Amino acid sequence: MITETTSGNRGLLQAEPLIFETGHATSMGVDLPAPKGTANKLGGLTRKAPLDLPGLSEPETMRHFVRLSQKNYAIDLGLFPLGSCTMKHNPRLNERAARFEGFADLHPLQPVSTVQGALELMDELAHWLCTLTGMPAVALSPKAGAHGEMCGMLAIKAALAARGEGETRKRVLVPSSAHGTNPATAAAAGFTVDEIPARDDGRVHLDDVKAKLGPDVAAIMITNPNTCGLFEPEIKNIADAIHAAGAYFYCDGANYNAIVGKVRPGDLGVDAMHINLHKTFSTPHGGGGPGAGPTVLSAALAPFAPVPHIVLKGGKRELREHSEGTQAFGRMCAFHGQMGMFTRALTYMLSHGSDGLRQVAEDAVLNANYLLARLKPHFAAPFGDRPCMHEVLLDDSSIKPKGVETIDMAKALLDEGYHPFTTYFPLVVHGAMLIEPTETVPKRELVRFADVMIALAERVNAGDVQFFKQAPKLTPMRRLDDTRAARQPKLRWRRGSNEAPAQAAE
Ligand SMILES: *Cc1c(COP(=O)(O)O)cnc(C)c1O
Repeated sequence: MITETTSGNRGLLQAEPLIFETGHATSMGVDLPAPKGTANKLGGLTRKAPLDLPGLSEPETMRHFVRLSQKNYAIDLGLFPLGSCTMKHNPRLNERAARFEGFADLHPLQPVSTVQGALELMDELAHWLCTLTGMPAVALSPKAGAHGEMCGMLAIKAALAARGEGETRKRVLVPSSAHGTNPATAAAAGFTVDEIPARDDGRVHLDDVKAKLGPDVAAIMITNPNTCGLFEPEIKNIADAIHAAGAYFYCDGANYNAIVGKVRPGDLGVDAMHINLHKTFSTPHGGGGPGAGPTVLSAALAPFAPVPHIVLKGGKRELREHSEGTQAFGRMCAFHGQMGMFTRALTYMLSHGSDGLRQVAEDAVLNANYLLARLKPHFAAPFGDRPCMHEVLLDDSSIKPKGVETIDMAKALLDEGYHPFTTYFPLVVHGAMLIEPTETVPKRELVRFADVMIALAERVNAGDVQFFKQAPKLTPMRRLDDTRAARQPKLRWRRGSNEAPAQAAE
């Protein structure tokens, strides 16, 4: 197969160097006369050498960024099977609402009297979140799931301190299947992390939790449904045991997508749970943001919720830094959170309605189970003996003896036009391939994706190991040396020091 071209372009896709390599200080997209009457007031501080910023003409600028965008895989292009991420279609209606100038063009320091509509929207979102989760309070300001975890753990810390147990209860229990942010948050909030080891069935056991309980336990952090794609069947009993031991139950709500409208976390005994608006309630994410992680709080933790609080008084909404009867632990960010995400999430909720949100969970679970049923005969599915929730967990134990590992499958998928699934997570399953289709993928797409996965499995069985080891062949870059990139990152480009990116050794 021909994979190299003389130009570096491929098909109709142009190769594109860095903007610093193509740009010249003398090129410009505008042609303005030197301004009159603005004498240089910098005195002796005027820069002597040029700044070496890239200058491009307008068409060059357009093309540069459009070419870069064509190298991106995007949720608007196709299925994004990443597990534990909920990358789903974002309805254009949400985008339209988020761009209404009354929401998009606000300044966080505007007088409160001029942002009553925005505050009402935030209040309404809070109402939906509390109603759906069966919890009395929510802090809207956390800006991501991990930030919401921090909010919940700081509320727990404040509640313990108020009980006079701030110094004695320091241990936080975290199952080994947890997302890495859970132990990181507990540690960053000043707790010590005590791991609950995994069992073969992929779930947390009441006995294991009870064995860890003691007067020094502050909280447990459990993800439900968990990162193996399974609902925790003992969750209520675990919550009861935690409470009986005087500790709190933090639930990682990143997978709330799978149960929204079906189960209220408040009924399961949850004390604090973040909701990744950017996972459960659409709103675009990836590439580092933006996210929003509102955190619902139980009656026991509500008094410690961070400021600001939105309070309705005499028909007007106020933003309060102190409210009667509360002991806020502080604030999570400079202002009030991600307005654009709030607008998108509420639009998503209102356009679905409560019945539609229940169907979101049902369809997400149905889609995942369709993939599980199709793929189970071709790949090892560690928990495939029972239905899954919103994501399918496979591993490479059946293909590895034939010379093909999870990473090779992921790279082969790139050539087939798909962003790979989540690889090697959760850590409790060796060689994990975690696939989350979400509810917005039509059946046709699911069929196509399953067909590709099955065709690849057949290729493994046919012994075509080289096909996998050479993949990806069709992407702008082949296999990169991830380890070297992580160990010796080059974060600064210098003129003349251009090096080809490190390709992994064959
Ligand atoms: C995504 C995720 C998080 C972290 O959320 P961010 O918004 O990326 O900070 C935490 N836990 C689980 C299980 C997740 O899937």
